[in-house]
Amino acid sequence: MTNNSKCVKYNDYFSDQLYTWCTNCGNYALHSALKRALVAEKIAPKDTLMVFDIGCHGNGADKIDAYTVHGIHGRVIPFAAGAQLANRNMKVFAFGGDGGILSEGINHLVHAIRCDFDLVFVLHNNRNYGLTTGQASATTPKGFEMNSAPNGVTEEPINPTEFVLSLDPTFVARGFSGNIKKLTQIFKQAINHQGFSFVEVLQDCPTYNSATPHNWYLERVIDVDIFDNYDRSDIKQAKKICKDMAEKIATGVLYKNEDSDDYYTRQPSRKDMKSELVEEVQQEQITELLEEFR
Ligand code: SF4
Ligand code: MG
Repeated sequence: MTNNSKCVKYNDYFSDQLYTWCTNCGNYALHSALKRALVAEKIAPKDTLMVFDIGCHGNGADKIDAYTVHGIHGRVIPFAAGAQLANRNMKVFAFGGDGGILSEGINHLVHAIRCDFDLVFVLHNNRNYGLTTGQASATTPKGFEMNSAPNGVTEEPINPTEFVLSLDPTFVARGFSGNIKKLTQIFKQAINHQGFSFVEVLQDCPTYNSATPHNWYLERVIDVDIFDNYDRSDIKQAKKICKDMAEKIATGVLYKNEDSDDYYTRQPSRKDMKSELVEEVQQEQITELLEEFR
């Protein structure tokens, strides 16, 4: 890891471990965009914590050279939030898939948005459980035949960005793994937002998701920057434009509220505190206390 935050290079984030994802998996582009954004923002690996959920994306935990944790399925957000609250000198990222985050751990997503923890959360949305060989997730298109639904999925899919926008968030973006330049710009803005930055990345899973492959997105993805009158501070506009997941799929930073305080800033007990919580950890002698209960 480099020790000089002022001079951060792309190669600083390279790991000696080789990637094992399938050919053309959307995860490659996402890692590339993430590293580019970190370098552009001059954030060194020693100042970066990345917490990975279980899933194909999670197998990237040792493929990037920062502080990384490979967590428990669906529980990545509380771990990342705790780490961020303990040491705000670290830039904290959490990564999860549409499987773990929108089923097992959806409660954590809801409360992280309510609390507005200051971290970047990236939802890898490839619309299936890839690691466990192609089961339907909460975002798999209705009617599509999956290993766990041989007769076709019978439930309506969740639109993650629409769902998050219903919870009064402070930063919502949607990117596409086929556009690394745009995804890099999105990550840069997410990094600079103070609060919970939700970034959904629509990505290809060529091995198990033939319903919405790379070319399907290429034909549909649009950039909100093409609209001169698009107002990112207007949540009503974001809610409207994010709905379409069939014809014109809006990408970019869709909503941003820079006027609210994040969770830590709102805590009266931390007002005027100069130290980080991690610096306040101390050993306590509890032998005497325990004796009382003998
Ligand atoms: Fe990527 Fe899908 Fe292969 Fe997993 S199964 S590595 S998500 S292409
Ligand atoms: Mg998935």
